[in-house]
Amino acid sequence: MTGIAVVEGDGIGHEVVPVAREILAAVRPDLEFFEVEVGYGRWERTGSACDEETIADLKSADAILFGAVTTPPDPGYRSALLQIRRALDLYANVRPIRGEGVDIIIVRENTEGLYSGIEWTEPDRACTVRVVSRRGSERIARCACSLAAARRHLTIGNKANVLKSDSLFVDICRREAARAGVPCTTRFIDALSLDILMHPARYDVIVTTNIFGDILSDTAAYLVGGLGMLPSGNIGERHALFEPVHGSAPDIAGQGIANPIAAIRSAAMLLTHTGDPESAAVIEEAIDRVLNAGIRTRDLGGNAGTREFGAAVLREVLRGK
Ligand code: ATP
Ligand code: MG
Repeated sequence: MTGIAVVEGDGIGHEVVPVAREILAAVRPDLEFFEVEVGYGRWERTGSACDEETIADLKSADAILFGAVTTPPDPGYRSALLQIRRALDLYANVRPIRGEGVDIIIVRENTEGLYSGIEWTEPDRACTVRVVSRRGSERIARCACSLAAARRHLTIGNKANVLKSDSLFVDICRREAARAGVPCTTRFIDALSLDILMHPARYDVIVTTNIFGDILSDTAAYLVGGLGMLPSGNIGERHALFEPVHGSAPDIAGQGIANPIAAIRSAAMLLTHTGDPESAAVIEEAIDRVLNAGIRTRDLGGNAGTREFGAAVLREVLRGK
């Protein structure tokens, strides 16, 4: 029995996750789902966004399907997602970007870099420490190389001309690529952000540090229709969590218009991760057929609602099974 923890989270998470879950259940009736409440809504109600018991529940799952959580500006609030990534040691954030003429995977280091959590405020300045460790770089490099080994090549996104921490990162990634027999090039992150838009076909697997990977994937979302399209996996040695790249989108939450593709594709990634790429392909193909039939949500220029789009994908999934 495969147990899937389902976290809707906040905002449009409540709209896109049920759609993705329904499609998952249709392709794999044997999956067992259990809901876990996490996020700002829970914090407002109970004073805690995520606690030890939540973490234990998430750890008990074979994989986690996650929506999005709102991180309010409130200084007393601790981000539930950062807490989960840390507790489950989900060090690799894998973000595939696929569309017309685009087939890129961004592999973002997920635990250190500028998000290491080491920061302080002094009267006249504030400091955030950018940590790049040998162990952290080796494991993200290995993850990227194992993906690239089955594809074409690896690009190391960096700013080593300015940052010593990135010199270490590049050295380690280069060495791991050589060891894995993966052709690899380096590219400064600012030039890469432009080039990925102008020449997306030049890129295959891109490995980079935490914040660079976050920014680069939002930029690359432009190539495939925006944030509503991009799924992601947060992967560690023992646990894995799949979520849309987008956030809780408070500006459109509750209207039933969010694009559920990122969440549905995240469910497909979850299946591949748990050893069922065939069912994942059924879902991916169903999405493509619905898009080809001209059914689209508003962000893609159509007028289908979240549930309507989901129902169309579900129909295609049942037909393709
Ligand atoms: P958060 O603080 O939770 O990250 P945010 O508003 O900063 O929220 P996103 O939630 O990623 O960031 O949203 C950025 C923009 O993209 C918003 O205008 C939002 O409406 C839009 N957007 C995000 N996801 C979707 C989606 N699935 N469908 C349609 N539009 C979306
Ligand atoms: Mg955001």
